[in-house]
Amino acid sequence: MKELLKFIQLRCPNCHSMLSRVDKFEAQIKCPYCSSIIEVSGVAQHTLVMVSPEMIVPFKTTEKDFKQAVCRHLLGTESDNIVCDIFDKVEMDNVTAIYLPMYLFEGKYETEYKCTLVWSEKNADGEKYTCSKDESGNVKSNYSILCLAYDGLEITEELAEWTHCFPYDPAAVQTFKSEFVTGKGYQILPRNLDREATWNKWGADIIEDEAEQEAFKQLPEKTDRIIRDYRSMFDYHAKHEGHLILAPFWFVYYTYDYQKYFLMMDGLGKHTNGSKLPQDENIYEEVKKNKKLDTRAHLIAAPLAALILFFTPHFLDSWIMMQTIKIAIILISWGLIWRFLGGEDENNILKRAYKKRKTGYEQMLVTTSSNNSRE
Ligand SMILES: [Zn+2]
Repeated sequence: MKELLKFIQLRCPNCHSMLSRVDKFEAQIKCPYCSSIIEVSGVAQHTLVMVSPEMIVPFKTTEKDFKQAVCRHLLGTESDNIVCDIFDKVEMDNVTAIYLPMYLFEGKYETEYKCTLVWSEKNADGEKYTCSKDESGNVKSNYSILCLAYDGLEITEELAEWTHCFPYDPAAVQTFKSEFVTGKGYQILPRNLDREATWNKWGADIIEDEAEQEAFKQLPEKTDRIIRDYRSMFDYHAKHEGHLILAPFWFVYYTYDYQKYFLMMDGLGKHTNGSKLPQDENIYEEVKKNKKLDTRAHLIAAPLAALILFFTPHFLDSWIMMQTIKIAIILISWGLIWRFLGGEDENNILKRAYKKRKTGYEQMLVTTSSNNSRE
């Protein structure tokens, strides 16, 4: 007889997201999707009983690890254009740990392909001409992928998009025990696709795409290469029907200037994915302003140089020596004016913003290490 797993679910009264746990909810929780506070006693709870997953990838990272990864992401590098006050405005107390239901598919595939390769060559006079050749071959390989056993709106679109096919790490998998998912406030998403539906929705296409990519790699590299009339006979042999696995993920949504942003990380801490960070639009204005200053510096430098030329005392006999000194004076005065009036270039502005972010980053690290609910 298959083991069963009981889910407790409630719907967020604000954004209507369904939240699921395997153990009970705390008296008061924060919705991971809209951040509103939910008084659990005031909302209806449902139970859902499903076949237990066979395996689980337990979390290897703590809430603190994820918060630190978020901080590093927000800090960026010296060459990133990210708003410098991001750490003052971002609230990070709503990070969520969730187990997603995934099917592990493993097996072998084989594909026989035919196509026409078109490329360009140059003749002795350097003129281009087009060449083409029929190619064929076959690709054999193993596959092992995790595919999301869920299709719906109970997790956000970006989380579903990022996790629909995920790299599988055999070393991290363990036999499922309910202890893994209880007592730590983990969200857990019940699956709504079965094995076959999951394979049909994601698995088959992903492996066929992979086979095609491998075939393309076998084709000779040419200038302006175009692959035409690609056709293939694809076949696969599954090692097993597919195992249901719970895979761990972290995510957080944050707001900057009324815009929503997100960051996600897998529970092993190996992969992250996030929306593009809020950009500092002012930097372009500042660079433009500096260009104006640059022109002004030239305008001042020119008459000043003329004055210097006019008043330079004629104490040297050698005409060439005289001219050299004059040129030197012009260059030095131009340089001085540029220094005082000319502004910073883009790189300097970015570096300055990075320094400001770094201060916020260090403060945020102190805060995140002092409160930890999910160690
Ligand atoms: Zn909500």
